[in-house]
Amino acid sequence: MDLHTIDTIVEPRARRDLPAPTGHDGILAGGTWLYSEPQPGTDRLIDLTTLGWPPLTITGNGLDIAATCTIEHLIDAAYPPDWGATTLFRQCADALVASFKIWTAATVGGNICLALPAGSMIALAAALDATLTIWRPDGTNRATTVTELITGPRRTTLGPGEILRSIHLPATALRQDVALRRIAQAPLGRSGALLIGRATADGYILAITAATDRPLLLGLDSPAETRPAIDRITEDRWYTDPHGAADWRKHVTTLLAEEIVSELAVRKE
Ligand SMILES: Cc1cc2nc3c(=O)[nH]c(=O)nc-3n(C[C@H](O)[C@H](O)[C@H](O)COP(=O)(O)OP(=O)(O)OC[C@H]3O[C@@H](n4cnc5c(N)ncnc54)[C@H](O)[C@@H]3O)c2cc1C
Repeated sequence: MDLHTIDTIVEPRARRDLPAPTGHDGILAGGTWLYSEPQPGTDRLIDLTTLGWPPLTITGNGLDIAATCTIEHLIDAAYPPDWGATTLFRQCADALVASFKIWTAATVGGNICLALPAGSMIALAAALDATLTIWRPDGTNRATTVTELITGPRRTTLGPGEILRSIHLPATALRQDVALRRIAQAPLGRSGALLIGRATADGYILAITAATDRPLLLGLDSPAETRPAIDRITEDRWYTDPHGAADWRKHVTTLLAEEIVSELAVRKE
């Protein structure tokens, strides 16, 4: 839709071109959400795509994903053959209600910063131990994780003028065995629960998203710990919206989590 409140679009070519925040800025990435509803409090857009960040950088340490990397680019790229966890990229894209047409524009960073419970790039970043680099408006950077960044539905710790620059996935996590489960109340509906498990050297990491108001990470030593760990999640974390009630979400999360951890345990044997 046309955003009739916008009177300036800034197209930075380098970090030094980023303007001081006014409190009325919209950060524009793929625009698939930004242009989908009125933005009455926004009069200036800062287009990140003109910064020309390389979408993906593979190093010995892992994968650096520019925030502006599109979901299409993430799933179409070639990765080292021992990075088995990259199979999650396509599974997470498929977990969005958005179709392949949206993937061509929607960015990984936009999905994370939008902070919807059903943001599957959030699940990916949580499960694969991502470090996020944030550009601060004073020219410095800060590092954070997705579980620290996202504090609730559409709520983040991003301050005025802060921009997510990149998402680093460590090679260790990319080489580990993973399993994903998703459930929605309608065949093509928004995720009611989206869980990803990862087998580590000494146990399991389980990322819970969509069912809770913000991404949660559980560390488990054995499959037997799964249900008690989920029972310890406080009731206020379970999310209710038109895509599912909190009690249903807790129930399906428990079943899917047990499935994931049992599957990873069998593969570990
Ligand atoms: C049909 C349809 C289905 C969808 N289904 C889903 C779904 O199932 N789950 C879901 O989570 N989303 C869904 N979306 C919403 C959206 O398309 C995705 O979340 C997408 O990944 C957002 O990325 P974008 O690059 O288009 O972000 P934009 O629309 O450009 O921006 C989204 C928000 O993030 C901020 N932002 C973007 N990049 C940065 C950055 N680098 N630093 C700081 N702030 C930034 C923007 O200011 C804005 O507030 C859907 C959209 C459509 C149209």
